[in-house]
Amino acid sequence: MVDSKHPETLAVHAGYRNDPNTGSVAVPLYQTTSFQFNDTQHAENLFALKELGNIYTRIMNPTNDALEQRLSAIEGGAAALSLASGQSASSYTVMNLCRSGDNFVSSNNLYGGTWNLFANTLKDFGIEVRYADAADPESFRKATDDRTRCYYAETLPNPKLNVFPIKEVADIGRELGVPLIVDNTAAPSICRPLDHGAAVVMYSTTKYLTGNGTSIGGIMIDGGNFDWEANKERFPTLNEPDPSYHGAVWTEAAKPLGPIAYILRARVVLLRDLGACMSPFNAFQTIQGLETMPLRMERHCENGEKVAEYLAKHEKISHAIHPSLQDGEMKRRADAYLSGGYGALVGFELKGGKEAGMKFIDSLKMLYHVANIGDARSLAIHPASTTHSQLSPEEQVQTGVTPGYVRLAIGIEHIDDILADLEQALKAA
Ligand code: PLP
Repeated sequence: MVDSKHPETLAVHAGYRNDPNTGSVAVPLYQTTSFQFNDTQHAENLFALKELGNIYTRIMNPTNDALEQRLSAIEGGAAALSLASGQSASSYTVMNLCRSGDNFVSSNNLYGGTWNLFANTLKDFGIEVRYADAADPESFRKATDDRTRCYYAETLPNPKLNVFPIKEVADIGRELGVPLIVDNTAAPSICRPLDHGAAVVMYSTTKYLTGNGTSIGGIMIDGGNFDWEANKERFPTLNEPDPSYHGAVWTEAAKPLGPIAYILRARVVLLRDLGACMSPFNAFQTIQGLETMPLRMERHCENGEKVAEYLAKHEKISHAIHPSLQDGEMKRRADAYLSGGYGALVGFELKGGKEAGMKFIDSLKMLYHVANIGDARSLAIHPASTTHSQLSPEEQVQTGVTPGYVRLAIGIEHIDDILADLEQALKAA
């Protein structure tokens, strides 16, 4: 295995060298549901977790394993688990620690799908989300009690694009014995949340990690840096005997394997029971995209900054949003947690309000009008008429989505072509 700490190298080498049977250099696509056991003893050992190995693709698969090892290496983690979508990754990161009657504290600056999952679906399961103010780390401490199982936040949440104070909140959590989970979907390779004290990182791999817009997927990465046994009563799912696995205690069971109790339980309990596995085909696609992710992110960030600079001076725009344009505490956070660029999400507010926003979108020729982010192609959306249209006007303002707000996810095309399309659409708006 190549020994490197550089994402450019890890993205093409980590977790896989060549196929032991064929020598294949590209990670093979193991499009199979099942793996034949060597003999009955082998099968018994695998089921009893005495030996780790492939049983059934819902639980693990060698193509997915290569992706998991690669992303874990890029993030500086101990082990990872690939899942069917970013949504399943967000769900599992929290459900791996919270049971009915428990609570967790989340940043109030979140992707709308995550907000809904937490505020409604997890609530229906008896898991309470307590929203804290992302701008005020101490609000996480205030919301914590004995039943608080984790903190949750996004590194670079849109539309406000205020970088989350990862270390400040992770430090409070470590003082109180609460792990911080970070959704780093918008900031791969420019931020490594585990370096700043996060315990778990998750991604929608659908976005920059795959980058080609072909495959929905998610991943959760265990930092292996959190002591689940120091406050045993806070983490019953990891420290109490698990009746679904012959009374296994996951912190004990993981000891021979490394500091991976959290991710081991997510795989052998949540994935086994709830079943949101990433298909090997999508893992294969994600591996193809991941090889160029650090390189693409450089261009995404470079283009994002140039677009932000252009928009900030445009006469039809009241203000542009990008970390490169911030000042004060928000800029300090952006500089503390992002390196090598400020990301490629750019927001702006049209003076002409909702009508101008919709006209702008309808006039775009190259940029795609889609709800997604993190594609190699440049993308645009007008949230007030789409993703945020169900919210009341007050909620829209609270979430940072005003009627004339437009979100761009800048791609890797030539900057001149991106600016030319924006210019002609702004003229029409
Ligand atoms: N987290 C963030 C920050 C996202 O932007 C998204 C999707 O837009 C998700 C999670 C959910 O991911 P997926 O669409 O892959 O389920």
